[in-house]
Amino acid sequence: MSIAKNRPSKAQQVFAIAYNILCFPAWPIGGLLLAFLGSTTKGTKVHEGTEANRGNHVKTSELIYDWNQALPTNLLPKGPVLLNDETLRDGLQSPSVRDPSIEQKLEILHLMEELGINALDLGLPGAGARAVEHVEALAREIAGKRMKIRANCAARTHENDIRPIADIVQRTGLPIEAATFIGSSPIRRFTENWTEDFLLQTTEKAVKFAISLGLEVMYVTEDTTRCDPEMVKRLYSTAINCGARAVVVCDTSGHATPMGAYALTKFVIDEVVKPSGDDIRVDWHGHCDRGFAVANSMAALAAGADCVHACALGTGERVGNTQMDQMLVNLRLMGVSPWDQQDLTKLKDYCSAVSRATGVPVPANYPVFGEDAFRTATGVHAAAVIKAIKKNDIELANAVYSGVPSHLFGLEQVIDIGPMSGRSNVLFWLERRGIPASDDLVERIYNRAKSSDHTLSEAEIRECMEIDRSTESRNVPRT
Ligand SMILES: [Zn+2]
Repeated sequence: MSIAKNRPSKAQQVFAIAYNILCFPAWPIGGLLLAFLGSTTKGTKVHEGTEANRGNHVKTSELIYDWNQALPTNLLPKGPVLLNDETLRDGLQSPSVRDPSIEQKLEILHLMEELGINALDLGLPGAGARAVEHVEALAREIAGKRMKIRANCAARTHENDIRPIADIVQRTGLPIEAATFIGSSPIRRFTENWTEDFLLQTTEKAVKFAISLGLEVMYVTEDTTRCDPEMVKRLYSTAINCGARAVVVCDTSGHATPMGAYALTKFVIDEVVKPSGDDIRVDWHGHCDRGFAVANSMAALAAGADCVHACALGTGERVGNTQMDQMLVNLRLMGVSPWDQQDLTKLKDYCSAVSRATGVPVPANYPVFGEDAFRTATGVHAAAVIKAIKKNDIELANAVYSGVPSHLFGLEQVIDIGPMSGRSNVLFWLERRGIPASDDLVERIYNRAKSSDHTLSEAEIRECMEIDRSTESRNVPRT
């Protein structure tokens, strides 16, 4: 099922695209203008269309007017979008995580493969013997099982970090891209007493060294989102001239807003990549300090980035990286290739495996994969979901109160009973478990819920049933 079919008209889209081309720096305003335009011209039609179509064969998609698609298509990811999984490198730089065992890392690797994730960072072998052992085990598994996922390893722009990658390639036969990183921003240069020439020479030396060892190079500039345009241009141009075939635009400190991510990515493409005449992959690597990680990644893709780096559950330095699971959910819902066709029912297993292996808990209110993501005890919400389920329409039930259809991710709606519940919650809860819903029992559970300060546990609900049975056995007249 396509979740949303109600789209803006062609004329509106053409206007939006023209507006967008003319007013590039103000592109978010273009989007807002479109939303306004849509609101003034489409509002009544939506209502009429919905009313007119309502009948026995109405599709869920016809019941949703999708403002998300009011944006002109050139503000959407151009696709196909690549995803690079940083869970086993940047994700493990979180101060709260446990470094998983090799067996746990292999389990996570296989889940990445099943989810169709394009590449992963195996680790930073320059960090020492344990890192080398783990990276090599992962590389052997990919080579031995002929997995599709591609591999890369992080390295400082230093021979001591680059050489171990080439050694692992030699020993395992698996091609591994070297992700050589260097600080770039004025604030970092000032702090470290680095001159611009030092950074350019270090870049040249490291990229040439990696190429001389037969490695492919993605060149990573830390803190790109706070780096002056001239230096961005000089660093990337130097790396590309020395043979790098991918550049990674980094929001290392979590500074960017979606507008900043868009502007910088577009700058890199227009001012560096296109003039180089080479086929250069552009990656976006972002952090979540301002809570913008997924939005920034989407903005970078809209600006033309090819690939996004992300971690399961957003693990990583400080408050973490872009959430891989949320990227996959959104790319799927936005119909972006190839994720619109990807089976993502293992996504919860992937999150759970990373949570178990790293000790990072999944908060109950975490999007899609938190315990409460598809769970409600609120009467009004539950009543609507129950009515939809009673229409035998799982798509309707999963869409009526949720922007994410749970069945696309192998999950389902859960109706619980709490102080905000109505009697329909109780009736449905009992019905789902095949328990006869006598008026007395419904009333008892309902009253218990109303006097409670929390959603009732299964045990608490079953206590009400015990009272029901003991009352019956004593044959006491009910009141
Ligand atoms: Zn990072």
